[in-house]
Amino acid sequence: MSAAASLPDVPGSAPPPSVALTGPALTRLALAREEVDRSAHLRNDQAWLDAAWADQRTRVLVVEHGQALCEFGTEQARLGFVAPAQAPDGVRFLLGVDDEAVAYFGVAGALADPPGPGFRPAYLREAGPLLSDRDAGLLTHAVALGNWHETFTHCPRCGSPTDPFSSGHARRCPVDASEHFPRVDPAMIVLVTDPLDRALLARNALWPERRVSILAGFVEAGESAEQAVAREVAEETGIAVSAVTYLGSQPWPMPQSLMLGFRAAADGSQEIEVDANEIAEANWYSRDELTAAIASGQLRLPPPVSIAHRIIESWYGRELPGSW
Ligand SMILES: [Zn+2]
Repeated sequence: MSAAASLPDVPGSAPPPSVALTGPALTRLALAREEVDRSAHLRNDQAWLDAAWADQRTRVLVVEHGQALCEFGTEQARLGFVAPAQAPDGVRFLLGVDDEAVAYFGVAGALADPPGPGFRPAYLREAGPLLSDRDAGLLTHAVALGNWHETFTHCPRCGSPTDPFSSGHARRCPVDASEHFPRVDPAMIVLVTDPLDRALLARNALWPERRVSILAGFVEAGESAEQAVAREVAEETGIAVSAVTYLGSQPWPMPQSLMLGFRAAADGSQEIEVDANEIAEANWYSRDELTAAIASGQLRLPPPVSIAHRIIESWYGRELPGSW
């Protein structure tokens, strides 16, 4: 029987899951928000770039070792921009242009002294959730590029120092003309549930007592994200999973990851055998057991900025208490 023959014949009914195109289940992740258009078509337009840099409305976000100046208020924060004339030396990158034609650049350079009370240098992990969509997107973009320019300074082919081009979104070797692009390391993170809908939570061997999360690991060379899910879960806990479902993604440029979120079902044995090198302990928790473990101080969960928090929350069904 062909796939078409199995389609429902009711007018307007939904297509079967195998052909359904749906958006990610997790939206508005703290670091996956964006408002300013990246304007990639302008990155090599030198006349436009020169004019934008000379425009008094242009705003520059300086990032240094993953930090930027932020102004903190009550339960919110905003970025501290400088005018182009006040920007320090350093690699310059075009972050984008907003709806009112204001250009935003980043510069990887020395942070200025805080311009007033309330301003201080902050990492993305702290400021990200408190920023507006516009500022969260700009800071995530700028930190990712800043980290890359700080680290990948030489040609991997011949060892010569490379030069930024394309408004800081690429680097080129002056000796062999090879071009190099920002490195992003895909990592998967997965909530595994058993037939009783209990969640598998584990403590990494490097973490302090009581801190737990869902399982995560880097996607290896020549491996799909779904294959990485099954391999990591089996390696770390001895659990076999099926029905791997994609939930959404969030950049995590600390220094260069992209977190790919999944759910997976453990239909077979629920007996856990931890890899003691990576995992100190792992256990199944019902929602009630998790609630009680957090209330008693026995467990602490990841902070809201993380995709782990959002994935656990999507299973838990309401706001999570007790984060790190
Ligand atoms: Zn080279």
